Amino acid sequence: MAGNKRDYYEVLGVGKEADPKEIKSAYRKLALKYHPDQSQEPDAEERFKEISEAYAVLSDPDKRKQYDQFGHAGIDGRYSQEDIFRGVDFEDLLRGFGFGGGGGFGGGSIFDLFFGGGGRGGRRGPARGRDLRYDLAMTLEEVATGLETSIEVPRMEKCPTCNGMGAKPGTSPQTCDQCGGSGQTTRVQNTPFGQMMTSTTCSKCGGRGQIVSDPCTECRGSGRVRKNRTISVKIPAGVETGQHLRLGGQGEASPDPGGESGDLYVFVNVRPHPLFKRADDDLLYESPLTITQAALGTELEVPTLDGKRARVKIPAGTQSGSVFRLKGKGIPRLHGFGGTGDMHVRVNVKTPTGLSGRQRELLEELAAEFGEGKKEAKVKEAEGAKKKERPPSDKKEKGFIGKIVDEVKGAVQ
Ligand SMILES: [Zn+2]
Ligand SMILES: [Zn+2]
Repeated sequence: MAGNKRDYYEVLGVGKEADPKEIKSAYRKLALKYHPDQSQEPDAEERFKEISEAYAVLSDPDKRKQYDQFGHAGIDGRYSQEDIFRGVDFEDLLRGFGFGGGGGFGGGSIFDLFFGGGGRGGRRGPARGRDLRYDLAMTLEEVATGLETSIEVPRMEKCPTCNGMGAKPGTSPQTCDQCGGSGQTTRVQNTPFGQMMTSTTCSKCGGRGQIVSDPCTECRGSGRVRKNRTISVKIPAGVETGQHLRLGGQGEASPDPGGESGDLYVFVNVRPHPLFKRADDDLLYESPLTITQAALGTELEVPTLDGKRARVKIPAGTQSGSVFRLKGKGIPRLHGFGGTGDMHVRVNVKTPTGLSGRQRELLEELAAEFGEGKKEAKVKEAEGAKKKERPPSDKKEKGFIGKIVDEVKGAVQ
């Protein structure tokens, strides 16, 4: 058998002294030409296997030495086919060639091609059940504490009556006579380069390996039934919308007896909060402030996410838009790294409206005290004064996340 094989150096079109870089580049060039996913050459698959094997040997210093000394006999006598390919990351080598799935083979690995569906966790045997997705809505309060809950997931499960076999209880399915129960039919071909094995799904049993003559009434022979399954989930504190939790094996049961179940992905969707806005692990709370509170200073009581209240000291002479930080009153960081975020309280000074007579009197007195003059003078000055006025603070808003960092720097704690 070994005598039929072409020389590895010849296969790659490189000299005996070629360095690893040359070998790699020669392989990539040939792979592009013979990759079965896109090559028009009639013998692409065989050629691709041939150059890949040559590369696998010549790119490994030990194997190359062995080959240089003893030729094909040195390799075939010492390594199995799988051993030859082991350690070479073909997917990585071929990345960027545009062969779907990051260089893979439309879902299967390169090993499926070389070993007819077997090899490294290949596609031989029963199919895997489907993965499922569940969208879980969470409140911000639940995000802060973490959430343990149960969800109801409709899914295909193994039929309990026939235990997934599809046969009526008391009867048993018969082993498929066409594939002998393997679900695959294998064809062995002798080629000039050795034996080639091709496996295909058995046409008689559809890959199940068994024929059911007396089907189970509950699942009608399919081996699966639809169930609403209650599953408990534990979401850690600090998650954000779009993050997900994978529950291995909680997806759909395999359509084949003995097959692996799929996984369940629980995607988090955090609902907007009526009081707080979230920016990563920080929270923003907007609080109104009267002009007297702003001018004289006060102590504000604000709600916090844990349902309690916190006090914020507002110094005299606080400007509208100032931000005060409540350390550690934000959202815990995911997995507990780096503690908890902060809560920021932004005060917005509200101009009073609908003044009573007494209030107006007092404000006029205040105006006089500020040297803003009498009513008559004010009217004349009004136009000039308007230009000097600061624009109302809420017109300056640009979106709090960008601004908050600057504002916090200037804020009093
Ligand atoms: Zn059944
Ligand atoms: Zn069969």
